[in-house]
Amino acid sequence: MAESTFDKKAFKSEIVDNVKLLFRKTIEEADNQQIFQAVAYAVKDIMIDKWMATHKAYELQDPKTVYYMSMEFLMGRALGNNMINIMAYDEIKEILNELGLDINVMEDQEPDAALGNGGLGRLAACFLDSLATLKYPAYGCGIRYRYGMFKQEIKDGYQIEAPDNWLKNGNPFELKRPEYATEIKFGGYVRSYNDEFGKEKFVIENYRSVMAIPYDIPIIGYGNNTVNTLRIWDAEAIQTFNLDSFDKGDYQKAIEEQNLARNIVEVLYPNDNHYAGKELRLKQQYFFISASVQTAVAKYKGKHDDIKKFADKVAFQLNDTHPTVAIAELMRILMDEEGLNWNEAWDVTSNTCAYTNHTIMSEALEKWPIELFSKLLPRIYQIVEEINRRFVEEIKAKYPGNQEKIKKMAVIYDGQIKMANMAIVAGHSVNGVAKLHTQILEKQELKDFYEMMPEKFNNKTNGITQRRFLLHANPLLATWITDKIGDEWITNLEHLKKLKPYADDLTFQKEFMQIKYQNKVRLVKYIKEHNNIDVDPSSIFDVQVKRLHEYKRQLLNILHVMYLYNKLKQNPDMDMVPRTFIFGGKAAAGYRIAKLTIKLINNVGNLINNDKSINNKIKVVFIEEYCVSNAELIFAAADVSEQISTASKEASGTGNMKFMLNGAITIGTMDGANVEIVEEVGQENAVIFGMSAEEVIRYENQGGYDSMEIFNNDEEIRTVLTQLINGFYSPENPELFRDIYNSLLNYKCSSRADTYFILKDFRAYAQAHEKINEMYKDSARWAKSAMLNTACAGKFSSDRTIEEYVRDIWKLEKVEVKL
Ligand SMILES: *Cc1c(COP(=O)(O)O)cnc(C)c1O
Repeated sequence: MAESTFDKKAFKSEIVDNVKLLFRKTIEEADNQQIFQAVAYAVKDIMIDKWMATHKAYELQDPKTVYYMSMEFLMGRALGNNMINIMAYDEIKEILNELGLDINVMEDQEPDAALGNGGLGRLAACFLDSLATLKYPAYGCGIRYRYGMFKQEIKDGYQIEAPDNWLKNGNPFELKRPEYATEIKFGGYVRSYNDEFGKEKFVIENYRSVMAIPYDIPIIGYGNNTVNTLRIWDAEAIQTFNLDSFDKGDYQKAIEEQNLARNIVEVLYPNDNHYAGKELRLKQQYFFISASVQTAVAKYKGKHDDIKKFADKVAFQLNDTHPTVAIAELMRILMDEEGLNWNEAWDVTSNTCAYTNHTIMSEALEKWPIELFSKLLPRIYQIVEEINRRFVEEIKAKYPGNQEKIKKMAVIYDGQIKMANMAIVAGHSVNGVAKLHTQILEKQELKDFYEMMPEKFNNKTNGITQRRFLLHANPLLATWITDKIGDEWITNLEHLKKLKPYADDLTFQKEFMQIKYQNKVRLVKYIKEHNNIDVDPSSIFDVQVKRLHEYKRQLLNILHVMYLYNKLKQNPDMDMVPRTFIFGGKAAAGYRIAKLTIKLINNVGNLINNDKSINNKIKVVFIEEYCVSNAELIFAAADVSEQISTASKEASGTGNMKFMLNGAITIGTMDGANVEIVEEVGQENAVIFGMSAEEVIRYENQGGYDSMEIFNNDEEIRTVLTQLINGFYSPENPELFRDIYNSLLNYKCSSRADTYFILKDFRAYAQAHEKINEMYKDSARWAKSAMLNTACAGKFSSDRTIEEYVRDIWKLEKVEVKL
């Protein structure tokens, strides 16, 4: 590992200089935000030399490069991460101390870069950290949303959305690169003509266009000199508005272009795992994809003559179907601008593009109506049509007369363009994100594709970066681990298994649980400050933080809390370790039932938290504004990790891995990566319950199950459900939670009762919680399990995931960067 050559004295005076230069102030006069900026610029200064050296090494060695294309990058804060990766965290902490400043306060000045919804965007962020740490050449390609994921406030128990003006103080880590501005064209119509050689050519006329302006953010590897780039695109009107255009009669066009530019990058769509079909969303997609693909081609051409060998130097990874228009855009450039014929362009495109599938849920599948798509992207649409025409010919040749196959696999069907089908047909790789998920793709959802092109399918189980989610998030545990086994785990997480022998040692168990306790105290303070609720750090912290979604079943969790409360009211002396149920997560702004679930959680909390008769045995806390920065505090403090999705619905999950790494015990279904977590840690160190994915799918194929039967036969469940509609938790409005009640018991025209099998899994879930209670009472047993969870988390590093992508899909070589 490279030794840190950090110069403390120089860094200290640079902070002072920066405050002066940026704000004309002394350290004493500057406020915390200004000092944060000064520190950030000083850190950037260290990174800049490495960034330039990396650029130079890539120019010289001309390595193959991956472009990770994603609508979302949920980066969180950069300062702490960058200080860690330049290996100067403790030194900078000391310097700030000497200046009378607290590093945590400084870090808290930085807004989260919340350019993502949840797991998918955070995965992209973890991948960038791993790529740089492993020294692989990579770009992240995305959008510089002016407003990221909305801020969540809880008022009277309801979620209120507020805009996330994350750029209001500027972003010290970004670099505007106007010299790489690119024109992006929308609308118009395609005119074809024959050129002087008789070849058919296509041009778009009467289009509208915007300029895409890149902003580069440095992504530094841990303890090395590699600094890759996250390139996010801003939109500007082609020429600033002037009265000239009024005279020329294109006043209207100038205004429209101004508005187009303003709107495109204005805001991140706050939907997780849900497709809304909005035209502006398609504009966003084509905007950043066209800019990124054009730039990648131009960069390649700067060094190479033969565009047919593009895929030798470039890999495009499509993070879900959101960037799938890259396929047609690359085909367009290769044919219309580079002069390749269809087959040549198709070869290059297939060899370049690879697709990651993130969900099997039908409401998340992107299908664009032909009308909308062809109007916005007329030439791209022609290419999609031709991709479809040729593929349908292939299906017909392979399965003569089989209309079902065409219906399922065609790229265009029933007036809609199916983006997943295009990604599968055109790319050379289709990967799921956990073993179970990939199996379901192959055997169920994408069965027809798998039968036709099995060689494309592969699994890449997700991972997380231990640099952020252990080293930065949990410094006490990180230091303790390093004391015990050395620091190799930071870049090779499998080393954690050296902790296994310690798990039986009483002294080490005590130390481990003492650290957990201190992290719980840290979270208790945060909750007191932000929620004004008193929480007992010696209670079991039972945590479910993730996006609010019916399939993630926060409702199962809170119904169980209601059930426990009823039991405690009947028997206040019930044998139960005090439990704090902690929830956190945002609901999409338009997701009625998810928002109502937040209200239910808060109302249940309100009643229970203020009921003295149950001796504080249960507390319920909903943490406002769940985001990457407070996630780091939450994972470190968790005893129990709630991973209770309806089996088959959670493709992988990554929150589950962060909890495990920090020594929490999973209560969960056999879904997503939970399956592999149990495989690693052993079933005795996790609490698994409920229906299997196979059972769920079997019931779904039968049209569901009869939840009324459970309601009629299980009195305790019936009591809990009745409390949803008799005003027990909403005396001012007994009907408030009627829709939740109905979702569990009544068939609606659109969906079955209890679509997510909450009542069907309820008893098994309650039993699983009893088991948690029993396990915790045996403190040695609990400590051992907790420690083994950390010790067995090695597989879930995104470093491992990235090595698998490199080996199977991208075929990159590491590049050593020297200063
Ligand atoms: C890891 C993470 C997620 C994903 O959590 P899941 O439990 O896998 O859904 C979402 N949001 C944030 C802020 C995260 O850090």
